[in-house]
Amino acid sequence: MDNLFSFLVAALIIGFFLWKYLRKEKKRAELARAAAEKGKLFSEGPRSQHPHIDANYCIGCAACTMVCPEGDVLAMLGGKAVIVNGYKCIGHSLCAEVCPVGAITMVMASPSMGEDMPYLTPEYETTIKNMFIVGELGGLALIKNAVNQGRECIDTIANRMASAGGRPISGAYDVLIVGAGPAGISASLRAIEKKMRYLTLDAGEIGGTVAKYPRQKLVMTSPVEFPMHGKFKKTELSKEDLIAFWKKVAERADFTCRQGEKVEDVKKEQDGVFTVTTPKGQYRARSVVLALGKSGSPRKLGVQGEDLPKVMYRLIEADHYVNKRILVVGGGDSAIEAAMGLGHQVGNQVTLSYRKEAFSRIKERNAQRIQESTRKGKVKVIFNSNPVEFTQGSVILAVNGKTQELPNDYVWIFAGGEPPTAFLKKIGVGFGAQDLTAAGSLEAKQARQARKVGQEVLATR
Ligand SMILES: Cc1cc2nc3c(=O)[nH]c(=O)nc-3n(C[C@H](O)[C@H](O)[C@H](O)COP(=O)(O)OP(=O)(O)OC[C@H]3O[C@@H](n4cnc5c(N)ncnc54)[C@H](O)[C@@H]3O)c2cc1C
Repeated sequence: MDNLFSFLVAALIIGFFLWKYLRKEKKRAELARAAAEKGKLFSEGPRSQHPHIDANYCIGCAACTMVCPEGDVLAMLGGKAVIVNGYKCIGHSLCAEVCPVGAITMVMASPSMGEDMPYLTPEYETTIKNMFIVGELGGLALIKNAVNQGRECIDTIANRMASAGGRPISGAYDVLIVGAGPAGISASLRAIEKKMRYLTLDAGEIGGTVAKYPRQKLVMTSPVEFPMHGKFKKTELSKEDLIAFWKKVAERADFTCRQGEKVEDVKKEQDGVFTVTTPKGQYRARSVVLALGKSGSPRKLGVQGEDLPKVMYRLIEADHYVNKRILVVGGGDSAIEAAMGLGHQVGNQVTLSYRKEAFSRIKERNAQRIQESTRKGKVKVIFNSNPVEFTQGSVILAVNGKTQELPNDYVWIFAGGEPPTAFLKKIGVGFGAQDLTAAGSLEAKQARQARKVGQEVLATR
């Protein structure tokens, strides 16, 4: 009798846990299906970097689906991780890091997606020998990727110099670094660490895109090996704190950068040495690292009145604007964050104009916050709308084929940047037919090679 009772209790306990497990699995499958539906709705696959999941290795633990800061890029379907919202991936690579069996590697999108990207080897070398591209210009966003690539690229250059006997070329820098955003800073500091003769030029200021973030923006990053410092462990800090950290390391390393000097041409001479031209002079270098970022100059709409001084493309100090009538144009995270930032200042009336019928490529957190802001009347969103004219005191919007005039003091346009494609083409960098293994860190590449992962086949999803 006792045995029977114990058996029944054990069966009940097992049954309870089984039921709980199955319920959790069902919920997970429902979430995955919902995410997949959303992905299908926007029918946008990965645009550049994204995880490649080797289904043969995936053990279905779902660790990768839970760690992504962008939300539902991955989901579990049929017991395996799959990409459901590839367009959301911006290359954090945390999924690859947490995968306990190494089933995930970061790869670039298919060649058709990446045909407007410069061709790069796994060492970030362009089609021109000894000319490299690192950071966001190469297709991988995020500060940690820029820092990793800047560092790794200089290591490649240093190794090549060492195997060539290490002798300097008279009158030429060992490396000339163009751009002082996170990729260029990291490359420059690594060059200092390696005792190389370097020159860094930036058209603007040290810090690149980060220096242009709105004031007190919270920067999300990942632990990264920072040259001349070691492991940088912070994962969340203000833009000001990040810049202050870079400045501190730069000062300690005696890093110098010629700011406000734009590179206009790079030419490889007969002797294999590059001549780099700026409005201020010409420099010779045996290798060139292009860390230009992708922001380039802000994309303009070509709308009448866009040249008025009240029309701007970057918002740094939202709290400088109060009691104003404001139009923000765009549907990405930058536009939404600017609209919310301005909407929370005293007395502002903020309208956000977006040409599509819904926001489709924004962070989950921003999607929730903009809903909250509209509910509280801080921001008014007008979908399916396009500005047709800006005047001194108003803006004219085309909304579903009809025009609307809104009183207005300021306009901010967030339509992305014109990448420096024309410049790259002018200096002879080859585009398209990307090597699918070109992205990611060296460690990831080594891991990938070790596992002999085949080419990414998007059709398998
Ligand atoms: C609003 C916003 C928020 C973001 N938030 C985050 C975040 O929280 N976490 C994160 O990891 N990433 C974030 N990112 C992405 C991150 O800022 C970029 O991926 C990173 O800055 C890229 O670094 P980079 O060095 O490749 O290029 P950039 O930072 O863009 O630097 C490029 C530099 O090159 C210079 N340059 C360009 N052309 C020339 C030329 N011809 N001659 C000389 N100099 C030139 C520019 O002046 C610039 O200083 C954000 C991006 C934006 C726009």
